[in-house]
Amino acid sequence: MGLDATVYCNCFQTKRMNVLPPKDWVIEVLNDGSLNCDNPFFIPWLDDEMCNHKYGVACEHYLGNITLISNLRNQVNKYQENIPIIWNEIIYSGTHCGSHMNVSRISDLHKEVIFLQKLSFQEQDKERMDNFLQQLLELIEASNKYNHPISF
Ligand SMILES: [Zn+2]
Repeated sequence: MGLDATVYCNCFQTKRMNVLPPKDWVIEVLNDGSLNCDNPFFIPWLDDEMCNHKYGVACEHYLGNITLISNLRNQVNKYQENIPIIWNEIIYSGTHCGSHMNVSRISDLHKEVIFLQKLSFQEQDKERMDNFLQQLLELIEASNKYNHPISF
């Protein structure tokens, strides 16, 4: 159990597919950018035929378990006001899921990551923080590239 973040690719919407789905499949694009279809052959198709992204996942990171997220919270506690998105919507708990951050907010999230990158953290915390920020940057990059939210 912990905090996962995912950005789905948009190969379906942009029709950059390796194998087109059968015409009678009703494929729905959900709010988080993922795809849904009732056909039993949909998942195998999504897994390795649709495009080069396994299951249509462009970027996925395990941000950490409850302990790690709580440690990150302690590190940035005094900067809460500078990082409202990270503080209130990402590390507010170590287990939230089912939410997603819309594309319109990603540039503000990016500014918060850059703010934290400029701070200096204690030696023992630095590696964890660097890793967390690097993961966020990769998610942000994927979100920009595929025009999909980051979902948790
Ligand atoms: Zn793809």
